[in-house]
Amino acid sequence: GNVADLVTLAARHWPDSPALIDTVDGTALTWSGVEAAVDAQASELRAAGLRPGDRVAVRLPTSAAFAISLYAVLRAGGIAVPLSPQGPAAELNGLLAHSGATLLVSRRPGELEPPEGVRALEPVIAPDSRPDPVVPARAGEDIAVLSYTSGTTGPARGVMLSHRALLANVSQLTAVSPPVLEHSDRLFLAIPLFHVYGLGPGLLMATSVGATTVLAERFEVGKALVVCAEHRVTAIAGVPAMYAELAALPADELGTGLATVRRLTSGAAPLHPKVLAAIRRAVGLGVYEGYGLTETAPVVTSTLVTGYPKPGSVGRPLPGVELRLVDSDGESASVPLDPADPDDVFGDGDGGSLGTGLVSVRGANLFSGYWPDGAHGPDAEGWYRTGDVGYLDVDGDLHLVDRAGDLIIVNGFNVYPHEVEEVIGGLPGVAEVAVVGVLDERTGEAVKAVIVPGAGAVPSEPSEPSEPPELSEQRVVERCAAELAGYKVPRTVEFVEELPHSPTGKLRRVQLRTGE
Ligand code: ATP
Repeated sequence: GNVADLVTLAARHWPDSPALIDTVDGTALTWSGVEAAVDAQASELRAAGLRPGDRVAVRLPTSAAFAISLYAVLRAGGIAVPLSPQGPAAELNGLLAHSGATLLVSRRPGELEPPEGVRALEPVIAPDSRPDPVVPARAGEDIAVLSYTSGTTGPARGVMLSHRALLANVSQLTAVSPPVLEHSDRLFLAIPLFHVYGLGPGLLMATSVGATTVLAERFEVGKALVVCAEHRVTAIAGVPAMYAELAALPADELGTGLATVRRLTSGAAPLHPKVLAAIRRAVGLGVYEGYGLTETAPVVTSTLVTGYPKPGSVGRPLPGVELRLVDSDGESASVPLDPADPDDVFGDGDGGSLGTGLVSVRGANLFSGYWPDGAHGPDAEGWYRTGDVGYLDVDGDLHLVDRAGDLIIVNGFNVYPHEVEEVIGGLPGVAEVAVVGVLDERTGEAVKAVIVPGAGAVPSEPSEPSEPPELSEQRVVERCAAELAGYKVPRTVEFVEELPHSPTGKLRRVQLRTGE
């Protein structure tokens, strides 16, 4: 099928159900309204010269206009290239050139001055008339979305996601029981739709069950609570930074704002167990954590699969997704997991974790390689090595340790940043910390800690005595020396006001390493 068929089906089953509520411009559309807008914009794109396989950049914030434009491009047979509306002009032009986009959908296109050869169009929300439906010209293995990764580990790469891959991940999510999302749900989305997390498990998932999506351009904690209460939101798909902000609010305020919410999910970056606990204390709900990548369209594992949020774990593979841990030669570091087989999931009962390895994934949700030639896609047997390092606990639940590329090698000894960050993060007065490797003449690499001082968004346990937040380089080094092997102790400690993050709240470690 074509991803835009999700809209056709929703409009057929639930024509008059609320589909999209845009909390910024006030747009409120039913599924039949969405279908009409998608058809109108698809005809406009065709009229503007779009031919099957042409790339169309969609540079819009999280909004009804984004959702409609995305579906319109797909229905018209194009390849959607979602781009950040905040990205600077140089980045925009670079990605337009890299993707070879000929059309650009954006607000106030006049102000943008697209480069030569690119035509700018405005999104269509309320069509004057109902055009004939456009018959999708592409489906299955054809590329639907060209998604540029936010580049936390290097230069941006265009991930080719086929209609098959995106629809497969929606089916895999649908096969989770109890359901991730149901028709009666009202999903709050304030994460970027140009990132595949907002796009797939957010927008596409909601469309597939005809649920209502309540959209906000950005997450502002006070406003978000008002919106959730006003629209009786039942589910939130968020990132850890959002939950940390929510957790820092007074419990009664949070309880009132989230009174109708029954499901909270988090993804894209690690969710701190303290945040999980604080949210549970305040609203009595667990936050289900998922793990995914742009290359896997995107969800690989979720704690929804087991039905209980487990602190520090990202859960188990979705039905239909295979996962195994391999060493750097690609040899199996542990048994492959078949999520359908309880013996496999629970191992042979000998206890202990099954070994740390590189997370390798197989499934119909996998990407088709990088744009333009499909390089570095899944191997001949369909496996894709993610670059994340993890281990399975005795229950078969995945824990992520670090990214392989983030490993610091000091005198030949491996240092996982996460371990050092945990120790420093436990010191009072540390709001956020990043540990990176910097070049060192003597040891190859040396450990460096970059710390944002402050109370932090995460409240401490009520029982914790409040220590004076007296933070110094010496204090950091002393604590690390007391708890870690010598080579793991930071050689340098730097205090900064803020750490660099991607739009989904991921730490940009490269920037810290290179100082760019
Ligand atoms: P690039 O791949 O270029 O560095 P990126 O990191 O932003 O860019 P994404 O596809 O957005 O690319 O991110 C995928 C990565 O996010 C995963 O490989 C993993 O490292 C991290 N990630 C996703 N979910 C979680 C999670 N729940 N906990 C920890 N890390 C996560």
